[in-house]
Amino acid sequence: MRNPSISTPGTSRRPAARTARSRIPAIALSAVLLASCGPGRAIPPRDPAVLKARAVELTARLFIADGHIDYPDRASPYEDLTIGTSGNFDEPRARKGGLNLAFLAAYVPPEDEDAGTAFSRAEERIDLVLKAAEAHPDKLALARSPEDARAAFGSGRLALAVGIENGAPLEGRLDRLRYFRDRGASYIGLVHSEDNHLCDSSMEPDPAHRWGGLSPFGREVIGEMNRLGIVIDVSHATDEAIRQILKLSSAPVIASHSGLRSLTPGYERNLPDDLVRGVAESGGIVCLAFGSYFLRDAYRSTHASADLATARDVAEAIDRTVRIAGIDHVGLGSDFDGVGFSLPKELADVSMYANLVRELLSMGYGEEDLAKILGGNLLRVWGEVRAKAEE
Ligand SMILES: [Zn+2]
Repeated sequence: MRNPSISTPGTSRRPAARTARSRIPAIALSAVLLASCGPGRAIPPRDPAVLKARAVELTARLFIADGHIDYPDRASPYEDLTIGTSGNFDEPRARKGGLNLAFLAAYVPPEDEDAGTAFSRAEERIDLVLKAAEAHPDKLALARSPEDARAAFGSGRLALAVGIENGAPLEGRLDRLRYFRDRGASYIGLVHSEDNHLCDSSMEPDPAHRWGGLSPFGREVIGEMNRLGIVIDVSHATDEAIRQILKLSSAPVIASHSGLRSLTPGYERNLPDDLVRGVAESGGIVCLAFGSYFLRDAYRSTHASADLATARDVAEAIDRTVRIAGIDHVGLGSDFDGVGFSLPKELADVSMYANLVRELLSMGYGEEDLAKILGGNLLRVWGEVRAKAEE
C-alpha cells in the first residue's frame, strides 16, 4: 500500500522524505563510495567516473525488469534477437545493459478490430516471442511467472514475458482470456489509441467516446482477469475507464508504460496524480516510459531534437512518482521499439539503463530503493496478482 509519509510531491530533487529505514542499508552496502552525513542521509559521490562505475556495477548485479518493449511489432525475419537488431532491443545489448526481464508487447493495432484480424495478429506476435525463447534456450527463457523470471536470472538468461497491448483480440469472448494466459500472457492492456469493444482510449480522436469508460464486456473482463491471475494494464485507457477498473479490480493493476500528466498538462495519455495514487492504492505499479512525449511538453509540439528528454528527465519523473505513489509503486516501462525516435540519447536502447541508474544515484537513491524501482516492484505485483487468483 501507499506510504502516506511520501504522498506529497516535493520541490527538492533529493528524495528526502523517504524513510530512514530504506536508506540505512544502502549506505551500509556502499560505504566505500557513499559518504554519510548525519544519520540516514546518503551523499552521492561527486566524481562522475565513480558515480558511473557504481551505476554500471548495480545494473550488472540488480534484477532489472522493463514493463513494456514493443519488439514484436518491429521484429524482422532477417534479424536474430540473439545476434543484434536495428531497433532498441536485442539480447546482446540487454546483457550489456543489465536487463533481466523484458515484457514484450504483442501489440494489436486498432484497425485490426474492425478488420477482424485482431486475434490472428495477437497470435502471430505471441508466437514470435515463444519461438525466440524456444530457439535460443541457452540465452533466452520464456517467463510465464515471476518464478520463471527469477530462475532465468539465476541461470544468466534473459527472461521474456508476453504482454498483450489492446484487448481487441478477445473479440467479445471471455474464454479467450484463459486461452491467452495459457499461451503465456502476463498482462493485457485493455485498449490502444482508439476506443474498442472493451474500453475507451485516452487517444481516441472522438471526444464523445464510445462507452464512458468500460463497456459491459470490459467490466466482465476485469473480473475474469482477476480470477485468472492476468495483470490488468491501464496504460492508454481514459481516466474514467481507469477509475472504473480500479473500482472493479480485486487485484493490483499496473500502467506498463505511462508518464505523469503533471509534466505534460493536457496530454491525456499520461496519468493524473490522483490515478497514480489509485494505481498505488490497488497495490500496483506505474512503469515510467522513456519517450520524450511522456516527459516534455515542449517536445510534443516541436518534435525538435533540442527538446528531446534526457536520462535526468526520466529519473525526475521516477522521483516525482515515488513522491506521489511511494517507493513500492514505481517501475520502468521504456516503450523501447515503440517510440525510438523520441528516446533520450542516453537511454536510446536496452544497453543504457546504467545512465538512468547514475541519475538516480546522484539524486540520493540507495541500493534498496533502486532494487525496487528497477524490477523488484514489478515482480512483486505480478506475483501478487497470480497469488490472488489462486486464493
Ligand atoms: Zn503503447
